[in-house]
Order: sequence, then C-alpha cells, then structure tokens
Amino acid sequence: MYACVRTQIPCHPLPPFSSSSSSSSSCPRLLALCYLNAPTPPSSFACSSLPLQINHPDSEETLLPCSTADRLLLLAASSPAMAFQSPVSSPFDCLLIDLDDTLYPGNTGIGPALRRNIDEFLVARFGLAADKAAALRADLFRSHGSTLAGLIALGHDVHPDEYHSYVHGRLPYDVIAADPQLAAALQSMPQRKILFTNSDRAHMKRALERLGVDEACFDGVVCFETMNPHLFGEEAEEDEGEAADDVDRPAVVLKPSVHAFVTALRVAGTNPRRTLFLDDSERNIAAGKALGLRTALVGKRARSKEADYALETVGGLRRAIPEIWGGAAADGELQPDHNVEKNKSMRAELDAVIQPTPIQA
Ligand SMILES: [Mg+2]
Repeated sequence: MYACVRTQIPCHPLPPFSSSSSSSSSCPRLLALCYLNAPTPPSSFACSSLPLQINHPDSEETLLPCSTADRLLLLAASSPAMAFQSPVSSPFDCLLIDLDDTLYPGNTGIGPALRRNIDEFLVARFGLAADKAAALRADLFRSHGSTLAGLIALGHDVHPDEYHSYVHGRLPYDVIAADPQLAAALQSMPQRKILFTNSDRAHMKRALERLGVDEACFDGVVCFETMNPHLFGEEAEEDEGEAADDVDRPAVVLKPSVHAFVTALRVAGTNPRRTLFLDDSERNIAAGKALGLRTALVGKRARSKEADYALETVGGLRRAIPEIWGGAAADGELQPDHNVEKNKSMRAELDAVIQPTPIQA
C-alpha cells in the first residue's frame, strides 16, 4: 500500500547511514530508523492522505511504498511534546516500564495461574473440554497475540471486562510480595515514568497495591483500556494521517503492536531515542528497539539481540543501569554472561514488530 507522510524536515539533514545509504533512500523503514536515530530527530511530520511523500534535503519529493507500520514509525518519531528532559545528566528522559514479570519476579506463579484461569474461562463460556480449551488458548495466542484478542477478532461477543474479571480477578495476588526497595527506586528516578502494560487497569492496581508501589509515582499509565478505548465505546485519539480506517490496526491493540508503542510514546511525550523501555518479553523488546527506544530486558541474565541491557530482576536496576540516575555506564566492569550487558547494534528490520506476545495468554 502507499501511505502519505509528507515530512517537513528540510532543516534536518539525513543522518549518515553507512553501508546501506543508497538503499535508505528507497526504503521508508530505513528512512524512519535514520530519522529516529538522527542527532536531532525531526520535530514534525504532516500526514494526510495517500500516497507517501517524503521530503528531504537530498532529493525532490519521493514517492515511496509505505505500510501503516512505517507511517506509525514516523509518527512515533515525531511525538509532539518531546519537551521533557531529565534534570540529571542521563541518556534517558523517560522510562516505559512493563508490569507483569517485570516489576515483580517471573516465578511468583501468577503466569501459570493466569493460563489456568483462561482455560477455565473457555470451558465455562464456550463449553469446551479442558484439553480443547488449552489448545485453543495456545492457538489464539499464536494467531492473535492473546486469547481475548483472538476471541474478539473471530467475532465472539466477549467484553474485555467480562474476560479480565474472570482471568485476572481470580489470580492469587498474595504471591506478589511487597517491595519497598522498588518503591524507593521508582521514587528516586528523575525521569518521567510510564507504566506500560497489556493488563487491564484493575489488575494493574491490585498488583501495584501488593508491591506497595503508589500508582502516583508514575507520570502516566498505558494499559489495556488506554490502548483499546474503542472496545469501551470511546473514541481513540488519532493523529492526522492515522485514519480510523487503518487497515493494519488489530482488533485488540497490545504490545508488541506498533500501535501500542505509538500510544505509549504519545503519553510519554519524549524523544524515543532518550526513552528506556523495560520489559520481560524479548518480542516486546525487539519491537521497542525497532521503534528507536533504548531497551532493557528484565528477568534474563543475558541480553537478547535487541536489548541494550539485561538484568535478572528490577531490584538490580541501580547497578545495571546507573545512567538512569546520572551515574557512569557499567561498560568495562562487566563481562559477557553477567547480569548486565550492552548491545551496540541497531535493529534495522521491522518485520518482527507486529507479532504475538509471548505471554501465551
Ligand atoms: Mg511482562
């Protein structure tokens, strides 16, 4: 398809694009990534109707094929505020922080309990045998990213509140222990902090309550309801150019969809290149990296290809990423396979962005 992105960036020369500079002029994905990684990202993009036109100082208007994901990349790069800057000398102005298995450990048993609840929901709601329910859950996860997303996409009349009250409302929240050190660490971070979770708001509140973390310590929350206002009878905010008939928009927006990240970046209002994204999902991390975010994989000893950092628990954050507090990077102090590693490579492939989440739920 062709999408229209008429960029207005004559004062922002294209950054060097080393070995593939010749191909960058014909590939909007690479152009977008160039812009995202430019020393000064473009301040605005004007988007209207088809087809795509990109103006840049090295050429006349160029007609380029562009998917909706490409267009959203450009929109993300031009997040309107980009005004907040960290008061300390830090490479980050904002942190996008996942909730489940990130702010609390992945071995609490919440994940298996969630999958059991989903299976029981499918049994109770659709009269499936238990083994069929488990197979359907796995199948919907692979095909649509989550059970709820699959059910809705297939036309089943399941309201998110009904689903979430069943599968989240019966979770054993008492397995989530209070974490005063986490609360203190979050309070001490000088950046904007956005909680960015696929879970619903009620679950988010209960998990934070168990952790002893005040929701008010976050500057914003992006959760299931935030990403899917259309499922609750609300109108989604849309940028010019992000039309309601966006054919690539999934029926249910969740990480790692580029639409989810665009929502989060709008709430963050910061430069993606100075935004650190923390998540336990390698697929989510890959999607964030493709959008130009700095990335930290939580719950793993070793980083994935797209992770700039890896840390076993969020409790090790201050040691793993001292740059958050203006400290020196841990480079040189750590060896491969330790808790913290840095990845200098930049992902230049976007195809993995819109893929199912790994939570198998
Ligand atoms: Mg998670």
